[in-house]
Amino acid sequence: MGSLSRYFSILEGQSRPGFHSVKDFRIDFDPTAEPEELWHLHGKAMEHMKAGKSGKGGMNLLDLKIALAGRMMDSCTLCERRCRADRNAGKRGKCNVLEARITSEFMHYGEEPELVPSYTIFFSGCTFECVYCQNYDISQFSSVGEFHSPETVAGMIDRRRGRNVNWVGGDPTSNLPYILEVLAHTDARLPQVWNSNMYLTPESMKLLDGIVDVYLTDFKYGNNDCARRFSKVERYWEIITRNHRFARQQSEVMIRHLVLPNHVECCSKPVLKWIASNLENVRVNVMAQYRPMYQAAEYQDIKGPLRTLEFMEAREHALALGLELVE
Ligand code: SF4
Repeated sequence: MGSLSRYFSILEGQSRPGFHSVKDFRIDFDPTAEPEELWHLHGKAMEHMKAGKSGKGGMNLLDLKIALAGRMMDSCTLCERRCRADRNAGKRGKCNVLEARITSEFMHYGEEPELVPSYTIFFSGCTFECVYCQNYDISQFSSVGEFHSPETVAGMIDRRRGRNVNWVGGDPTSNLPYILEVLAHTDARLPQVWNSNMYLTPESMKLLDGIVDVYLTDFKYGNNDCARRFSKVERYWEIITRNHRFARQQSEVMIRHLVLPNHVECCSKPVLKWIASNLENVRVNVMAQYRPMYQAAEYQDIKGPLRTLEFMEAREHALALGLELVE
């Protein structure tokens, strides 16, 4: 229980979800001020909130996060693709996401046992282009799904009552501003789960600080070459390790590692070793669910299924490193 103790204390009513404290922290700011000024104010407010101080003013810290997230969309740097597309003016970046489109929302019973039933909200679009994506029909086609107002989705959260709210896609990063707006309209006492590839910029990670109760991350590759080949992203290792450190400083973390066929040595072992050497008190799910879908047939090394022996090797490696595994 240690690695998710705060999560369980929220479920038991002994702690509040982080976003409640963010909403309670009062503040005043000029939404038209320069972003640098707003970021400075945000940094100070976060420091004071974490120190248990109370703020004052007619707005709250979530309003400030929403304002900053909206400004980031003028020249989008929500993820490390850093397209700088003016999404507020209707321009699309690499993920192709404009407005938030929800493809499905339901009580998910297939997540890790600690999380189920998990009220899961799937967005279309993704910051990655994984050639073996199991959800490629939503992740690679950002026009599928429907837009719902933040108030509507907040109402769904209030009615559904799972153990948590699980924001996913594709990847939720492209819709971070929208998700913050949804939270402005709900007071549900539910932990917020950020289910992501973790390719966010430091600025996006700052906006999530205080909001996310559990980071449910995908840590896929042990080097940049495999990430470039299979997910079409650059600087994977540097960005993902940095963000896992940020995530662990901010809140609790559960890491998924999908074992890829023929990638135990180059990916699974370095990922697991890094986690064991750098993150304390995290839970790891070594996953055997790989299926060669989407464009996987074009890649010799991942065009077949994962062999049981490969999975066992990765899992035993994780155990030998002393990692706490999801059973
Ligand atoms: S979220 Fe989309 S538009 Fe924004 S930087 Fe990332 S890929 Fe580009």
